[in-house]
Amino acid sequence: MDIVKGNMGWIEVIVGPMFSGKSEELIRRLRRAEIGKQRVQIFKPVIDQRYSKNGIVSHSGLEISSELVRNGAEILEKVAPRTEVVGIDEAQFLGDTIVADCAKLAELGKRVIVAGLDTDFMGRPFEPMPRLLAVAEEITKLLAICMRCGNPAVHTQRIVASEELIVVGAGGMYEARCRRCFEPQLAHQIIEEQEKRGASNAPAAARGMRSAF
Ligand code: ADP
Ligand code: ZN
Repeated sequence: MDIVKGNMGWIEVIVGPMFSGKSEELIRRLRRAEIGKQRVQIFKPVIDQRYSKNGIVSHSGLEISSELVRNGAEILEKVAPRTEVVGIDEAQFLGDTIVADCAKLAELGKRVIVAGLDTDFMGRPFEPMPRLLAVAEEITKLLAICMRCGNPAVHTQRIVASEELIVVGAGGMYEARCRRCFEPQLAHQIIEEQEKRGASNAPAAARGMRSAF
């Protein structure tokens, strides 16, 4: 960003589906800030302990240490006055107030770099990310590769039976899909299939699960 003069802060948002490289891009920007001898603090939600309790880890294995928080208020408490760059991963899990809290950090003069999913497993806008996009100075939207056809993928396909908004997991629970291959009702269909088969006999249910995956 070269449009900002003086010590004004700003918000950069990195969005896209799972596997699109959001964590990689966040880590890249934070590493460059560290190389530039800037004071950096990095946060991720308690809910996401997939790979490491103490760090952000990308699907390709890049890692940077981070602090665990429950919401944006905790970030404000933990941010040191001298911190210049604040990195936040998986922001969609940090609650509604994260938008106002990021704005506060920017008003304090900090460069705030936030990564998160912009849509959920049904393809719906994943609050509060859309509101964060609305107030950000800079937005980067990344695409993954569709696991079905190889086209650019904008969606996170859930391939397990759950209709909860938040099911944290990586290996085998989600895959990237393009708009043509995305099946928003798949999780629902797997549940229905299981219920149907479960009602007739159990071994058939197990067979149904495997074929649905
Ligand atoms: P995100 O934070 O958006 O989930 P990550 O930065 O953790 O993404 O991981 C991106 C990496 O995931 C890629 O560099 C690649 O090595 C790997 N990857 C696995 N599946 C895919 C896919 N379908 N499309 C693109 N990259 C993928
Ligand atoms: Zn596709």
